[in-house]
Parts: sequence; structure tokens; C-alpha cells
Amino acid sequence: VDSSGLFGGIEGGGTKFICAVGTGTGTIINEVRVATSTPAATLQEVISYFRPFCKPHEVEAIGIGCFGPVDLEPESSTYGFITSTPKPGWQNTDVVGTIRAALPVKVAFDLDVNAAALGEHAWGAAAPTDPSLYLTIGTGIGGTYLQQGKALRGLLHPEMGHIRVPHDLDRDHFSGSCPFHGDCFEGLASGPAIQRRFGLAPEHLTDNDPFWDLEAGYIASALVAYILILSPRRVILGGGVMKRAFLFPEIRVRVLEMLRSYLRSPALEDHIDSYIVPPALGTRSGVLGALVMARDCA
Ligand code: ZN
Repeated sequence: VDSSGLFGGIEGGGTKFICAVGTGTGTIINEVRVATSTPAATLQEVISYFRPFCKPHEVEAIGIGCFGPVDLEPESSTYGFITSTPKPGWQNTDVVGTIRAALPVKVAFDLDVNAAALGEHAWGAAAPTDPSLYLTIGTGIGGTYLQQGKALRGLLHPEMGHIRVPHDLDRDHFSGSCPFHGDCFEGLASGPAIQRRFGLAPEHLTDNDPFWDLEAGYIASALVAYILILSPRRVILGGGVMKRAFLFPEIRVRVLEMLRSYLRSPALEDHIDSYIVPPALGTRSGVLGALVMARDCA
């Protein structure tokens, strides 16, 4: 791995594209935020930003962590595309091809949540812990399990947001917001689920609303499943919903209650405060992870 030189990173999101130029050791030297409009206009702005950095070969590679669903199969004819997104106008957008055609760089491409996990693994809350789990709880819910620095993939990439968690029907009559499963984890606990349940944006819910107790329970239920199946050494919870820092202690207590001392590990029993943690890179996990991807493909 060559850490000298400069690399480009893009975190492509539904509301903005964060573009940065930085070093292979994670220092960002320049950054810009581009509002997400149409694919053509957004990608053109991204390309215009990077063009002066790309000649003559200051930036040799660009990593892209992109909102999905995306095609990550290198053999596929639609590799590097955003595929069936509900975001209007963005279905079948050739992100990688558009960047490659315009800039003389290598391009690495992955899901946004995978990029964020890589960023936290390289320079943040998961460094140097392995394996680790990064979960984002926001507009959607997605998770990445990193083992030896690589995101677990199988038939497809894991879709951790769509598992079933016990729906507390006594206290929560909301039928769920997932168009596929109704009251799956994402359908109960994502930002849009909160919005649909209360008819107001999650940020307008006060910290002492009784709903947060339910939310902590749903998140803890999902974490218990992931911990039992994957046995990560650390769990990082990011995304807009997790900006409510008071959720962390509630989730930790609930996870321990649900595990009922079955898993005997000091990391859980004595140090859960450093086992379930917020991202250390704040809102830059994704763009820094994209830099890692660029560095590793250059
Ligand atoms: Zn679902």
C-alpha cells in the first residue's frame, strides 16, 4: 500500500455528495459538498471539482462510497451503477463509468455504509479492532461487518436493516414503513419509520419522548442478533438517529439484559461502554473510507 501522494474520496448521498482530496494517512487537504440534484448535474460538479487535482497525476485514484442499491459485481455489465433506488431520476445511473470517462484515474466503488466502516476501521472507532460491525441508523438502516479489513460479502451484500426484530405491539401499533416487509428493523426504527409513525420529522421529537425507549429496544434486539451471529469485537452505531447520544447507554443496558450473561467476554460484561460506540470520525467516516478505498486501489 502506497500512502504517499494524494487520493480522492467521494461519499455519495441522497442529499449531498461530499468530495475530498487527502493523503493516504487520512488527512483531508480540501473538501467540498455538492447538493444531490439530477445524476448528470451532480456528477458533472463532482468531476469539475476533481479535474484540477487529477493533472498531472496528483490524484491517481478516487474512491466512491455511494448510496444504494448499487451493483458491486465486477463482472456485471452494470458494475458501478446505482440500480433500483427509489430516489427519483437516479435509477440505473452509471456512477463509475461517468467518472472514469471524464478523469484519468483509477476508481474504487462500494456502498456508502461499507466506506464508512472502512474509514472507522482505518482511522476511527474500530481501529485497530477486527472484526468489527458498523451500523448506520438514519434514512435507512444498513450494516457492514469487516473482517481483516474487508466487508463481508456473499451472494449479495448483507442487508442487516431488514431482519425481523420483536415488534412491541402492546406499546407500538405502527405497522412499519418498509415497502417490502412492513415492520422489519428498518421499517420500525429508521428515520422514515419515525416520521411515518408520528407524522413529523425525527428531529422534532424531544429527547424525553417515550418513543426513544422503544427505539433503544429495537436497536438492542437487532444488535443481539448480529452479536450472536457475527461475534464482532466492536460495534459502531452511526447515522442520523444515533446523534441522540442518550440512546447509547440505553442500548448497552438492553443488549446486556437480552444476552442474559450467555456470552462470557470482558468486552461485553465489563467494558460495554467501549464495545458499543459512536463513530470517531463524526460525519467524515464515509469520505475518509472512500480515501482508504482509493489508496488501496492505486
Ligand atoms: Zn424491510
